[in-house]
Amino acid sequence: MSYQQTEVWCVDKEDNQLTSHPDIQQAGLWIKKGEVIAFPTETVYGLGGDATNEEAVKKIFQAKGRPADNPLIVHIGERAQWHDLAADIPEMARQLADAFWPGALTLIVPKKPSVSNLVTAGLDSVAVRMPDHPVARALITAAGVPVAAPSANRSGRPSPTKAEHVRRDLDGRIAGIVDGGASGYGLESTVVDCTGDEAWILRPGGITKEEIEDILGKEKVRLPGGAPADAKVTPKAPGMKYRHYAPDAPVYLLTDNSTENERQMNEAKRQGSTIAVLASEERRDEFSRCADVFLSLGSGSRLEEVSASLYDTLRRADESGVDIIFCETFSREGLGLAIMNRLEKAAART
Ligand code: AMP
Ligand code: MG
Repeated sequence: MSYQQTEVWCVDKEDNQLTSHPDIQQAGLWIKKGEVIAFPTETVYGLGGDATNEEAVKKIFQAKGRPADNPLIVHIGERAQWHDLAADIPEMARQLADAFWPGALTLIVPKKPSVSNLVTAGLDSVAVRMPDHPVARALITAAGVPVAAPSANRSGRPSPTKAEHVRRDLDGRIAGIVDGGASGYGLESTVVDCTGDEAWILRPGGITKEEIEDILGKEKVRLPGGAPADAKVTPKAPGMKYRHYAPDAPVYLLTDNSTENERQMNEAKRQGSTIAVLASEERRDEFSRCADVFLSLGSGSRLEEVSASLYDTLRRADESGVDIIFCETFSREGLGLAIMNRLEKAAART
């Protein structure tokens, strides 16, 4: 599928009449007619299509180059729409929705037969999220249908946190982009599988493990690869096998050992490689000595700054043309768990 032109609509997320805004109305109408449109959310930019229209769903996979066995998240504007998608809403899912919707939390629940297997990649469950971004909410309302929307990047690339990232990856491959400024968290939603007796965090994200434990109790919450007890049951995490979130240049993670860090960077330079270092503002002096390019991730004591800037900074590191990217690592508490999850995927060689 190719388009002579990808339409771009610029809207102000502070506009309190977004739903009736002519640009949102038009973008919503295009979704209803089966086109795919990128839009901002409080996590990252999504690429949305009518979840009830298989042709539209196919366009999403095609535009991204996404493998067909990686299911999509369905976005809803109103809680009532959940009942059109879910065969059953387990108590844990209801509690989490009460606490965190609208918000950066995706809940996996048993699906209704009417939900297309293309959306769920043949699984008998469906992933649903009600976003908390005025532009996303207005667009879903204008479309009048549940909107299937993965991140609006080419598969394998870092997720887009700005409309310009979407344009770089998908210009000419999608009908339009609603530009509503930078997204919020800058990392994808937390995905929680609520189909069993325990809640499995399949992907850490904007809503933290600690926040989920506060609602359900620690004993109900599981993290694959977490505590040894968790190894007993492996939940289905279909999208997790793919290389994700990666820039083109190889990414290496720095450790707490500064002598070792310096040794690695010097070794890379001796071999003729140019290097970028991505690190917190607090460590600028330490790292800019060895780096060809230093890119700040914001304050390391405010992880929301790190998460909001991470993907943009990975993309900018690539654009600077360096051969190797080194990146600081962070504690796994709170948002740190999601940040480290994405960094480890960016650094994975397979
Ligand atoms: P993305 O749309 O790129 O943000 O990724 C969506 C994530 O949700 C992927 O990692 C999928 O594997 C996961 N996901 C979506 N639907 C399901 C489902 N029914 N069961 C398990 N994981 C799912
Ligand atoms: Mg994605």
